[in-house]
Amino acid sequence: MSTESIVVLSAIVLSIGVGSFSRVWGRLVGLILVGGILGWGIYVYGQGGELAFFERPLSATWFYVAVGALFAWEVVALTMALRARRRAHDFAHACPACGATQTRQVDRKNVCGSCQHTWS
Ligand SMILES: [Zn+2]
Repeated sequence: MSTESIVVLSAIVLSIGVGSFSRVWGRLVGLILVGGILGWGIYVYGQGGELAFFERPLSATWFYVAVGALFAWEVVALTMALRARRRAHDFAHACPACGATQTRQVDRKNVCGSCQHTWS
């Protein structure tokens, strides 16, 4: 197997492995790895070389299209993972009386911004 294939497979396995215990961290690792592969490609193609994935040589254009799309997807996926985490956090701190997520803390107690219910 070529170095390129090993790098890509390791990147996939690593991001899935990390993603299994934290969605946000899995996406962050995926983004860093795809960014690394992108940087590696820019270097190799910049030197006039060519990368081959799974025994198939990839032209610079297709490399940038494929890895660029993957990079964009990772950015979107990370944003969605962060938003989901924030939602889960909001939900965990929602008002037990009315379910509103607009709450504030006063004297170490939670105060609902909607019905003024107070709880600790
Ligand atoms: Zn409330």
